[in-house]
Amino acid sequence: MSENKKTVKIAGVKGMNDILPSEAPLWELLENTVQSVLKSYGFQQIRTPIIEDTALFKRGLGTVTDIVEKEMYSFTDSMNGDQLTLRPESTAGVARSVIEHNLTYDGPKRLWYYGQMFRHEKPQRGRYRQFYQFGAEAVGFTGPDIDAELIMLCRRLWDDLGLENIRLELNSIGNADERNKHRADLIVYFESHMDVLDAEAKARLYTNPLRILDTKNPTMQVMVNAAPTLLDYLESESLAHFEGVQKILRHNNIPYTVNPRLVRGMDYYNRTVFEWVTDQLGAQGTICGGGRYDPLVEMFGGKPTPACGFAMGVERLIELMKISGGVNTPGQCDVYLVHQGDAAQLQAFVLGERIRDAGLDVVLHCASAKAAGSFKSQMKRADACGAGFAAIIGEDEIANNVVAIKAMRSDDPVNNQTSIPFDEVVDYLVDQIVGANAHDEQVHYHH
Ligand code: ATP
Ligand code: MG
Repeated sequence: MSENKKTVKIAGVKGMNDILPSEAPLWELLENTVQSVLKSYGFQQIRTPIIEDTALFKRGLGTVTDIVEKEMYSFTDSMNGDQLTLRPESTAGVARSVIEHNLTYDGPKRLWYYGQMFRHEKPQRGRYRQFYQFGAEAVGFTGPDIDAELIMLCRRLWDDLGLENIRLELNSIGNADERNKHRADLIVYFESHMDVLDAEAKARLYTNPLRILDTKNPTMQVMVNAAPTLLDYLESESLAHFEGVQKILRHNNIPYTVNPRLVRGMDYYNRTVFEWVTDQLGAQGTICGGGRYDPLVEMFGGKPTPACGFAMGVERLIELMKISGGVNTPGQCDVYLVHQGDAAQLQAFVLGERIRDAGLDVVLHCASAKAAGSFKSQMKRADACGAGFAAIIGEDEIANNVVAIKAMRSDDPVNNQTSIPFDEVVDYLVDQIVGANAHDEQVHYHH
């Protein structure tokens, strides 16, 4: 007990998750895979702050959006009165940074980011208040080619992660003029169906009628399905761009469906929009959303700079990876060092460093509150941490200058231990572990 009379149990913040060591290997696998796929397309990392000026998001995302209306963690800096917000997404911050550092001065840039986002939503499966996104932003590119490339990059990622049954939905939301004409007709249409509109839809009718198309309210579906379709308002340039994207996708055998109802939540989108969706995650089935946002950089005071990007929800991807199985989660180390006696402990430290020099991962048994440190309890630890081998040093081993090596995952429970001269242990282990891995197709983390 502490000296305080009262102890206080402090819990984590609602909707914000701890990622525990048992889950971390899956996260690492995902992170490494995404990064290597991004790199294989020449994308470069950008890291922007988690906090930005509140005005950036209000201006960038639009004031009549779910995020700005009700999901932002905004606060006043008590030191100086600044209005700040924990980022709910990263596109606005990246656009700000691109302008501030004139990143496109020598041509377009392929950028990617990774990190926590914050939205004050109702926590539920696949929907949290702190969550991670990977995203890519291709800044300064005009043509439909980059839109298609971003989509194909995602496709490759799903393949590399071994994820199946993720489908692509595609749409074009044209430019501002086209949307305004559609919008006017849409309002007239909704006005003629006032009896069907729910309260949220009525509130959006004159501010953001496009969002009404996005409704999940079942009683509005029939009415919404018969509403004027934005695709019918696209003129030749927007249509050509949309066809350009589809042509590349078709040529590369990327299946997709055009969903004329697909609109994206933020104001800055135009032309191409897309979502990757799965039926395996219940209601929160969208794992990645993206599209073109040509107006954004100029809206923030930069030179007109067309751009296209996507963001994917990492928690939803992790859950998909768990469902699809087949991911082999690795042990904590290659070798667990077991020792008994003062001389053996010193020798174990030396051996541990030598094995690590050879590139293997080693856990040295250290005293703990529970386990006293008998050979038996140490071997239990070695087993629990998933080590392939235990290297054992006791009094006999010290006397003979050898180390007992036990193969923890051996099929032969009797003849699985051998005695190796101290100076040959590293070579022996490297041979056993790296040699075995060379014949092993599975993913390993340690090498
Ligand atoms: P939704 O319609 O599910 O609210 P969104 O349109 O708000 O999604 P985006 O802003 O496009 O989502 O973010 C891209 C991706 O980030 C989503 O497709 C989803 O995978 C993930 N995501 C968004 N909000 C959350 C959240 N609160 N918790 C976990 N993941 C999220
Ligand atoms: Mg949302």
